[in-house]
Amino acid sequence: MPDFSITNKYLYHFRVFIETMRGCPFNCAFCTATLYSGSKYRYMPEGVLRGTIEKWCLRRIMPIRLANTNLVADHDKTARVLNILKEYDIRWWSACSTNIVEHEDLIKLSADAGAIHLQFGFESVDEGTLAYINKRQNVVKKYKLLVKKMHDYGISVGGNFIFGFDTDTPEIFKRTEEFVNDTDIDILLYGMLVPFPGTRIFDQYHAEGRILTYNWAKYNAQHLVYEPKNMTREQLINGIAELYDNTYSPSRILKRFSYARSAYDAIMNASMGVVAHIGRHFLYSLMKGTIDESFDEDSAYVMKRPPNKSFERVRRMAHSMKMQT
Ligand code: SF4
Repeated sequence: MPDFSITNKYLYHFRVFIETMRGCPFNCAFCTATLYSGSKYRYMPEGVLRGTIEKWCLRRIMPIRLANTNLVADHDKTARVLNILKEYDIRWWSACSTNIVEHEDLIKLSADAGAIHLQFGFESVDEGTLAYINKRQNVVKKYKLLVKKMHDYGISVGGNFIFGFDTDTPEIFKRTEEFVNDTDIDILLYGMLVPFPGTRIFDQYHAEGRILTYNWAKYNAQHLVYEPKNMTREQLINGIAELYDNTYSPSRILKRFSYARSAYDAIMNASMGVVAHIGRHFLYSLMKGTIDESFDEDSAYVMKRPPNKSFERVRRMAHSMKMQT
């Protein structure tokens, strides 16, 4: 059983993470999960799971994070875990693969067992990209149905998207924006591809001489560490930032507040808005730092990027309020 008592209570006791299963057989071309946790699904023994819940998970304000690679791994074993969780009064969230759309019984059981939020690696709205990364369990035309089914059972949806694959062109940002505006995903996360060592994507980019740095500290999704193929570096970085701007504009945040399914969603939505409108300036300075180091001529372009419109509106409002006092 995990011994959380040896961790710093101020840092780690507010939110509890438990891993009820690990392993992933899919081995997608960009992902390290199969590399570090193996391709075979393994489940926490029932006694350990019960002991962990009883000792660490009851009477928690924050939902428990099931730090599983995939909630829907082995259908029957997942159902067994969910039936155990159902016996306790707990709220939790987890990563999950989109093929749960085929298993309505598991969606219902998840809701009955206390799921308030499931996070999906949609990765892309482009079928060609999904084929390129070998994420064969994702089917773009079922994404919308998936979101609807989750909402029908009162579970909110987190959507992760990654940009910069060789199949991506600059128009992927517009397509993604249209998709998310048309699909009531509750919390959106956009990331830049990181070709982690050991993955097939890293091997390909390395063989093609497109890895820009072998300083692993920069493989943190906040630095561009490879040369994109079908868009420029600026298009990639700016495309992600603009997507955050456009889909976390104040009006989009307010709309998502109106259908937030839990306080957790509302808080996450608000904090993502802060990331989009303020924190990303910090993120940009990090990215700019990387580009500065290797590509002086590009850093000027990033610095000259026009300010975020919503941020600028807030800044002007704050300025006018100050003048009235
Ligand atoms: S992206 Fe998801 S499905 Fe693919 S290998 Fe990683 S954890 Fe498994």
